[in-house]
Amino acid sequence: MAFTKCPKCDAKTKVRKFALVIHIEPDQLFILNKQCRYCVGCDLIIVRRAEIESLMAMAFESRDPAIIGSEYVVVGTLPRKAWRDRDNKDMRPADTLDHALIFKDVWEFEVVGGGWGPSAC
Ligand SMILES: [Zn+2]
Repeated sequence: MAFTKCPKCDAKTKVRKFALVIHIEPDQLFILNKQCRYCVGCDLIIVRRAEIESLMAMAFESRDPAIIGSEYVVVGTLPRKAWRDRDNKDMRPADTLDHALIFKDVWEFEVVGGGWGPSAC
């Protein structure tokens, strides 16, 4: 499913870049700047789990491979300003969470088993 239409209201979705705030067990915070499908009417962000997982695997392959495959939750998004500040000011994870817009609801449209592993390349 490409989700060119909103699964909730059937309107056409837009492509917009979001900084997704991801909490990885036990205590790792990861910000993923990524293009997502977005429905303006429903304020709904649509991301594919497989895409998140391959990007996370790439990011952690060299940094902290032991974390790959851990449980994670996408908790919300970071506003653009906080995202930029984060680069400038070396914010602590707690500060990042303070600025995050936490999702009210998370829907799962498909559950793909197997967890996430290192990228093939
Ligand atoms: Zn919608």
